[in-house]
Order: sequence, then structure tokens, then C-alpha cells
Amino acid sequence: MITAEIVAVGTELLMGQILNTNAQFIAQRLASAGVNHFFQTVVGDNPARLTQTLSLALSRADVVIVTGGLGPTGDDLTKETAAALFNKPLQYDEESLSTLKARFEKMGREMTPNNLKQAMFPRGSIILKNDNGTAPGCILEENGKAIVLLPGPPREMQPIFEEQVLPYITQKDGGTLYSRVIRIFGVGESAVEYRLKELIERQTNPTVAPYALTGEVTLRVTARCKDATEGEALVAPILEIIQTTIGDAVYSTNNEALHEVCGKLLIGNKMTLSVAESCTGGLIASTIVSMPGSSAFFTEGVVTYANIAKQNRLNVKEETLLKYGAVSRETALEMAEGMRVSSGSDIALSVTGIAGPNGGTEEKPVGLVYIGLADQKGAEAYEFRLSGNRERIRQIASLNALDILRRRLKE
Ligand code: ATP
Repeated sequence: MITAEIVAVGTELLMGQILNTNAQFIAQRLASAGVNHFFQTVVGDNPARLTQTLSLALSRADVVIVTGGLGPTGDDLTKETAAALFNKPLQYDEESLSTLKARFEKMGREMTPNNLKQAMFPRGSIILKNDNGTAPGCILEENGKAIVLLPGPPREMQPIFEEQVLPYITQKDGGTLYSRVIRIFGVGESAVEYRLKELIERQTNPTVAPYALTGEVTLRVTARCKDATEGEALVAPILEIIQTTIGDAVYSTNNEALHEVCGKLLIGNKMTLSVAESCTGGLIASTIVSMPGSSAFFTEGVVTYANIAKQNRLNVKEETLLKYGAVSRETALEMAEGMRVSSGSDIALSVTGIAGPNGGTEEKPVGLVYIGLADQKGAEAYEFRLSGNRERIRQIASLNALDILRRRLKE
């Protein structure tokens, strides 16, 4: 059984200016992968103290995971310090160098000599590609021990850790990891955790770990195994328990997003879709179009914000708007019907609501959203009372619209 240890580098962390979320993320992932881990350290950007920290960590762990200090600035000294400790000179990695040059060219930014440092690695390192930033990470090995160097920014560090470091650690431990991400919409995080409490707390292989995304819940089921076939066999019964416990709020067991699941169902049913949006302002259309191949089913999306646009573009009756208001079940129904007729698509979705922060009344508060769906069977509309800021209300409204579509397509 190997032991890992986490070292976070950065004076900002030491001074309390930023929170060490990298250590939290890595610790959680190590725990769910069943890797031993007994110490965490924060150290400033100081080569002598970093050397001391790394030496101590290496004396008690097999793999020392270091985040931060890989950038181009002078105080970013992690790589140099780790290289000196293992007595390995820094050298250019040609592939990283050309990737770095191409990245700067694409951004139209001038590359300064200190940027070149990011393409230099201790001799013999395993290089960890960074698709979200300029500083790749690396793994240095010596006498069965390893130092893993990762960039500080969480959005760069996390995918590298997940996709490259965790598999490395598990392999070192004589196995591999097989994981499946389950996505759930319509049941809150605490309800999921409550219903699956036993599984989350007791399960050791595979482990089940919940993560919250905006408006939805994901569960990562991770098995330590000798190969993918064994992994699949270990994970299958857990997936089944989750699906029976949570029900049809489980919309993917393969980490697909709602719009991707809808897209596949539309393609499978040979159906087309159009959307008429008010408060979501094109968010649904844009999400759908982010899926490659959406032209196979998506015909059109319109943003009808003002009443007059709803009348002119979607044929919503003036009378409906006057009597019930723009944010009403009746308007959502007419928007969906009007969209379906004018676009000629098989299904149309509509959204109208009050995203706030202003514009709410006692009768129609901020967060009140109506979502309509029209197909050959007719039209229906659903009322939602969402909470949060404007951005969140728009996002959750979009997700709800997609979920209504998914449920209809599965009928
Ligand atoms: P860059 O290439 O951006 O310079 P780097 O690897 O040099 O990355 P640092 O300069 O140490 O990383 O940190 C960059 C930023 O990453 C910090 O300002 C902070 O926002 C974030 N960051 C660094 N370490 C952590 C950490 N342990 N937890 C959370 N965020 C962190």
C-alpha cells in the first residue's frame, strides 16, 4: 500500500490570502481512491524551506504531491527545488516547448524568456499535459519515490490530477482505477446523500463520492481494480443500487450533461427541437449548440424578451399578455405552441420568468419561472419557484427546461 502526502506551495496560502482548496480536492480524491495519506503541509515560496519540507515528506511518503509555484515568475521555484533535491538538471521538453509557443501565438501574446522556463523539466520527468494553462506539471522519480508537481490554479490542477496523477498513483500501487460519473437532476445534494448514506459511508471498493454542480448532483463511483473489466463488474451493482434508490432523476451513468442526453434521445427518435426563450436569453439554445452534431436535431432558437416580440414572433395573444402577464403559464404555453408552429419542429420548449434582482412582486416573486413544451400531442407548462441570483435562476431554469424535454422524450 503506498502513501501519499500533499504539499501546497505559496506565500499567499501561508498568509491566509487564499484558501488551500487544492489540498482539500486532492485529499478527497486520494481518500476515494483508497490511497493512504497522513500529512499535509503549506510552505511559502522559499527554496530552503521548500527543500526542507520536501525532504521530510519524502522520508515518510512514497508520493509527494506538490501544487503551486510552476508559473513563469521569479518566485515560482518549485521545479528547480525539486530537481535539485533529486539531483536532476532541468532540460527543455521539445513537445512542451512547441505547445507553449503555439499557445502564445494563438493568444497573440509575446513570449518572454521567463515563459520558456515552463517548458523545462527535471531530466527524465514524466510530463503532465495542462490543457487549461501554460504550465505543465511533471513527475520526478528516484529510488521508488516520486514528487508530483502540479500548477496552482485549481481549474488547471484538478483535471491533471484526475486524469493523469490518480491513474499514476493507482498503477504504482499495483492496480488501476475505473470510475463512472452518475448525474442526477431534480433531487438535491442532501437528499441524495441521505438516501445513499449507507453506500457513501460504508462502501470501500468501489467508493461513492458526491459532488455538487450548479443545480445538479453528481456521484463518482470509483473502483480499484486490476483492469477495466474487473472495474466494470465491481461498479455495476453499485450503479444499480443508485438507480433504484434515486429513480429517474438519474439521467446519466456516463457523465453526460442533460443537453447531451436530450440530443441523443432526439436523434434516436428522429425528432427536431426549437426553443423560445425569455429570461434565459438564449442560454438553452447556446447549451444545445455546444454539443457537436446538434444540427441533426436543433432547428432554431429565438429570444423573445419584450411582449411585442412574443406577439410578433410567436403569435402570443395580446389578450393573454394583458390578462395573465408575460410570466404566466398561459404565456409559456402560447410561446411553445407558437414556436413549434413557426419553426416546424417536432418539439418546442419555451421559458418565461423573473430572473431578478428586480421586477418581482408578492404575487409573482423573483425566481418564478414557467416552462412550456409543445409537441404533436399538445402543449403543457410547468411552474417553478427558483432561488438564487439572476445567473443561477437562468441556469437552473435552462436545466429544468432540458429535464422536462428529457422526461418527455423518454415517455
Ligand atoms: P501560474 O502558472 O498561474 O503562475 P503556479 O503553478 O505558479 O501557476 P501559483 O503562482 O502558486 O501557481 O498560484 C497561482 C494561483 O493559483 C494562486 O493565485 C491561487 O489563485 C491559485 N492557487 C495556488 N495554490 C492554491 C491552493 N493550494 N489552493 C487553491 N488555489 C490555489
